[in-house]
Amino acid sequence: MKRIAILGSTGSIGRSTLEVIASHPDRLELIGVAAHSRIESLSEQITQYSPRLIAVWDPENAAALSRKIHRQDILVGTEGLIQMATHPDVDVVVVATTGSQSLLPLLRAIASGKQIALATKELLVMAGELVMRLVQEHGSRLIPIDSEHAALFQCLQGVPPEQVRRLVITGSGGPLWAYSREERKTATRAQVLAHPKWQMGPKITVDSATLMNKGLELIEARWLFQLGLEQLGVVIHPEAVVHGLVELIDGSIIAQMSPCDMRLPIQYALSFPQRWTNLPPALQLTRLSGLHFLEPDETQFPCLRLASEAAEKGGSACVVLNGANDVAVAAYLEGQIQLGDIPILIEELLLQHVVIPHPTLDEIFSVDAWVRQAAVQKLPSPSRKLAASADRIER
Ligand code: MG
Repeated sequence: MKRIAILGSTGSIGRSTLEVIASHPDRLELIGVAAHSRIESLSEQITQYSPRLIAVWDPENAAALSRKIHRQDILVGTEGLIQMATHPDVDVVVVATTGSQSLLPLLRAIASGKQIALATKELLVMAGELVMRLVQEHGSRLIPIDSEHAALFQCLQGVPPEQVRRLVITGSGGPLWAYSREERKTATRAQVLAHPKWQMGPKITVDSATLMNKGLELIEARWLFQLGLEQLGVVIHPEAVVHGLVELIDGSIIAQMSPCDMRLPIQYALSFPQRWTNLPPALQLTRLSGLHFLEPDETQFPCLRLASEAAEKGGSACVVLNGANDVAVAAYLEGQIQLGDIPILIEELLLQHVVIPHPTLDEIFSVDAWVRQAAVQKLPSPSRKLAASADRIER
């Protein structure tokens, strides 16, 4: 029996993880759930799944949940998430929060020898070097839930590292692939949030529309698989059937194919090294009309260029990329800026920043705090948001 704690249980990955756990009651036991602030959803999960440990990052919401469900033992804040992630009764920590608040809990869980199933790619973007060093030092295991990385992880089973030439992650192109560059700049939230292939949370869906998601995934792959950037590539694959490909030194390519259903990578991360049943049926190959692979165009998708540049610079440049993107995406979702403003904001902040090549944890946190504050200051004030956005788009 594997005993699981989920950081970020009310998000899209968290909810799918609960489904996977519930479909294997003889193999998986839910020990804890942690959420940022969505206590309505969390209290429903508590009623349905009866976890022993509950954590809420936001103190006010923790207090409100405590009153609502009449429990005094709710863990609170970053310290609460750490207590859950390092609890002796937990074997596997699923990290699926949206923000950077789970970085410290992740590091502490690794240091206490927990197995990690990681969905929050942003944490590897911010602190990949530190995270992977800690994984090696403590002999922990970190298994990706991100579908492309889960695909690569599966393809790499049994392949010696010296036989790998290159890893390729695929992207569907996102909801705005067919738009012109101008149309993409002013795309509405309804257009952006209508992803053709994946049902996901709003942050990652916006990242899919700008292709920042692929950029973040390149940086994630670099750390996860410990490869140079020249050994990593992105291709656009609109059918979203192949999720990742491993090219070997003899020119052979191994690919992983499956339906767009996050329960598969989640379940594999929990069942590894075994494979279990209880998932939706496999693809019907004869029903596929074709598979296409296209080069992504960085002039069409400036966020992909910015991510590649930050990856080349390395170190704290990736912290800036991630923090600026987080703020810009949130501002877009709030209606404060247009989609085309996102790369402008990120680029301005990357240009202002002097890169620290191998940042310590304190330096990561301080650059993260700086970039978030600086990004907020660059946002148009609500009263002049439309005019300001229009000005900026014309640049
Ligand atoms: Mg992905």
